[in-house]
Amino acid sequence: MATTAEPRAGRLDDLQKLVALCKRRGFVFPSAEIYGGFANTYDYGPLGVLLKNNVRDAWVRTNIQRRDDIDLIDAALITSPKVWVASGHVSEFNDPLVQCLGECKNRYRADQIDTTRCPNCGGPLDAPRMFNTMFKTQVGPVEDEESIAYLPPETAQGIFVNFANVASTMRRKLPFGIAQIRKSFRNEITPGNFVFRTLEFEQMEIEYFVEPGTDEESFEYWVGERERWYIDLGVRRENLRRFEHPADKLSHYSKRTVDIEYRFPFGEGWGELEGIANRSKGPDNSSWDLWQHEQSSGQRLTLFDEEKKQHIRPGVVEPAAGLTRAALTFLIDAYDEEVIDATKTDVRTVLHLHPALAPYKACVLPQYRNKPDLVRVARGVYEELRRRWMIAYDSGSNIGKLYRRQDEIGTPYCITIDFQSLEDNKVTIRDRDSMDQSRFGRVPIEELRGWLDSHLDY
Ligand code: ATP
Repeated sequence: MATTAEPRAGRLDDLQKLVALCKRRGFVFPSAEIYGGFANTYDYGPLGVLLKNNVRDAWVRTNIQRRDDIDLIDAALITSPKVWVASGHVSEFNDPLVQCLGECKNRYRADQIDTTRCPNCGGPLDAPRMFNTMFKTQVGPVEDEESIAYLPPETAQGIFVNFANVASTMRRKLPFGIAQIRKSFRNEITPGNFVFRTLEFEQMEIEYFVEPGTDEESFEYWVGERERWYIDLGVRRENLRRFEHPADKLSHYSKRTVDIEYRFPFGEGWGELEGIANRSKGPDNSSWDLWQHEQSSGQRLTLFDEEKKQHIRPGVVEPAAGLTRAALTFLIDAYDEEVIDATKTDVRTVLHLHPALAPYKACVLPQYRNKPDLVRVARGVYEELRRRWMIAYDSGSNIGKLYRRQDEIGTPYCITIDFQSLEDNKVTIRDRDSMDQSRFGRVPIEELRGWLDSHLDY
């Protein structure tokens, strides 16, 4: 089909278009919608879960599977509150809160607005006060000081408290990393912009432990590595930039922090996608958190250096990515509305998702749904391919409409069974980005698995 479509040229100009697509196609729903929703809270639907799993898998492949030096753990969410006291979260995990004293009574994070008047109604604002954003909960039936526990606001502490366990069981020497992917919870003052900032979200973090004194070098390396990961997965380079945190704004544990920012279609535009922090602010450039946990627990959190015959507390670099924020970013960057014909009446919505991220890797379609022979062959192809990948099957409409339906959810390939397939056992494969149905020629059914394997390789 001739097309004027320019893959990946466009840009999402209005987040609401993506919000609508996510709801319409089962990526993300407003939470508890039948009760009118719950402010800024979302549920992931069938396609959203597939997308999130694919983001997670791509991260694991890059950082665990294809490296020799990083192990993955999964620590308990609810743990000893002593962890959060030692890490400084109980005393330091605060955001400055201001409230409008005028008509609207809105609340804001003081560090996110640059005015002394309410951005909504123009009323005066009260003086900033610190607000701890950790969610508290209670363990056991009696509610008292002793029973307080916290929902984790980050994954890092689960790693630091397991440092000695992982180092000894995996017989690690420096440098090595420990990674974790799980939910985090923050009682955000101003959640919003769809799933950009929510109260519960998923994070993918690495604590990479290094010889003291080599932390700065490692930091530079990780900023480059993490930026490359987004680009390799299709995020356009021009939509990414680095933001260096000013020295006087660094967190209490950080020697240096650089955010990888993305140009979001809301707010100020540029917003944090991932933060890379050099948490080596302990004595002699060692890990601030290991040092704190040593002092609080009385346990040694060091490695024994056989050559130097001494215990060494390593430095540490932390690349901290948001899984759910990354999923949103991939969707935003992939979204496009393409004018297909010269009269500009035919516009298709397409997600140019990297095949590794696409919820379905391919869709199998019989050219005509009411032809039993076509349906039989199509079902056979579908059954075979879905043993290996998430594959869609659709026959509910005319073929043109079916292709567009798959474009909208980012399915990279549509495999069509036509009458000729009954004769030659071959299929046509339509490419999502170019909409071309002939560039791959007719592919033998028995070669489809190999064909997909090579085209989906990441
Ligand atoms: P911000 O300044 O936006 O509040 P942060 O600097 O506190 O973020 P980090 O603690 O560095 O964030 O968390 C690492 C990553 O986790 C962020 O880059 C982001 O991708 C993700 N993240 C943090 N808070 C949220 C949230 N409330 N909702 C969704 N993702 C989040």
